[in-house]
Amino acid sequence: MKTVLGCIADDFTGATDLAGLLARSGVRVSLRIGVPSEPPADPAAFEVIALKSRTAQVADAVAETRAALKWLKAAGAQRFFWKYCSTFDSTPHGNIGPVAEALMQDLNTDQTIYCPAFPENGRSIFMGNLFVGQQPLAESPMKDHPLTPMRDSNLMRLLEPQVTRQVGLADRLTVARGPKVLRSELDQLKADGVAHVIVDAVANGDLKIIAEACRDMPLMTGGSAVAMPLPALYLADGTLSADAPKASAPTLDKETIILSGSCSAMTNKQVADYTSRGAPAFQLDPLALAENGAQKVLDWLAKQNLAAAPLIYATANPESVRAAQEKLGIAGAGEIVEATLSACAVAARDKGARRIIVAGGETSGAVTKELGVTQLDIGTEIAPGVPWTYCHSGGHQIALTLKSGNFGTETFFSDAQEKLA
Ligand code: ADP
Repeated sequence: MKTVLGCIADDFTGATDLAGLLARSGVRVSLRIGVPSEPPADPAAFEVIALKSRTAQVADAVAETRAALKWLKAAGAQRFFWKYCSTFDSTPHGNIGPVAEALMQDLNTDQTIYCPAFPENGRSIFMGNLFVGQQPLAESPMKDHPLTPMRDSNLMRLLEPQVTRQVGLADRLTVARGPKVLRSELDQLKADGVAHVIVDAVANGDLKIIAEACRDMPLMTGGSAVAMPLPALYLADGTLSADAPKASAPTLDKETIILSGSCSAMTNKQVADYTSRGAPAFQLDPLALAENGAQKVLDWLAKQNLAAAPLIYATANPESVRAAQEKLGIAGAGEIVEATLSACAVAARDKGARRIIVAGGETSGAVTKELGVTQLDIGTEIAPGVPWTYCHSGGHQIALTLKSGNFGTETFFSDAQEKLA
């Protein structure tokens, strides 16, 4: 089997989100954490490589992405998808634009599209402006993100300082006229020298049109949702045969640990909901961790009954996050929390946890790394874009779910457990 679509995601939850949506088609989806050191053997129709490059130095993000591209080409892929956050998480330096330009160069292509829209999760784009629910991006809670605060809602303005070539827009009025019109608009833009095209989308129907118009582009970029229609399109035209097996769900012990390092508005609600049910919970304070280390929480964890699915969280409101960052620096506060939650993940696994729920994109990257997980099979979906996955860690089979900050509803932590019940 040759890989039909080679996908690269800039963080781990983004990769599981994308893999989950592709897996809705029933086609086998394999998710690899980092670029595999071995060349591809028995690649899946859809291969997703998860990087941890969203907030890396630009040069590192570009180098890592190029290595991922090389591996996916070796797996047989001729079409590629660059996945970033549906809230376009980036800074004026990158990494969305520089990585896209590097991929375009390696694929020898003059144009790509940018469509972070995810209507099921309330992300829509109109006239190049990104909305989170009913709010423009820059008025949404994303304006306070610890690592990539988003202070503009206009995707063209956000992308321009990140790239060297021209940025343009295919707006909703064009998209609404169908794949053929969109295709010729993209061709016209290309003739005008526009290499980077933001594409409006406010509903799943728009994404279908965009996917249909762009399915044979060497490179598409966006959130996960615009990739969702691709499996059906490739199945319909025979690019992909439907005989690949689905991931099967193993039976696992009930012992569970929940680790939350996301400070998004939704994760704050999820933590509040879960603790209000009387679940055992430990709140991490980055300042206390910097002073006294992680022993206190590890001692607490050692005493817990994992069948009660305890929660350990650093999740806090924007004021507390700012206070910690002022003392420790943005990266310093992030690293100390990520290291602590990762140590808790390993301790919980060694104590018998076979179901691990993680909230936060960067947090998930750190936790999976510490657990030594390198490949995941995609399983049942908990919330749009958040599947359970099955993998191996420390010689045990475990179920792992990695939720990016704003995903899921308030009851996510209990929903996830019920899905496996
Ligand atoms: P999200 O998916 O919501 O963006 P991430 O895990 O990607 O979540 O990013 C949140 C970042 O904030 C992580 O680096 C995390 O370690 C850091 N962090 C978590 N809690 C705190 C806190 N209380 N103070 C400062 N930084 C924090």
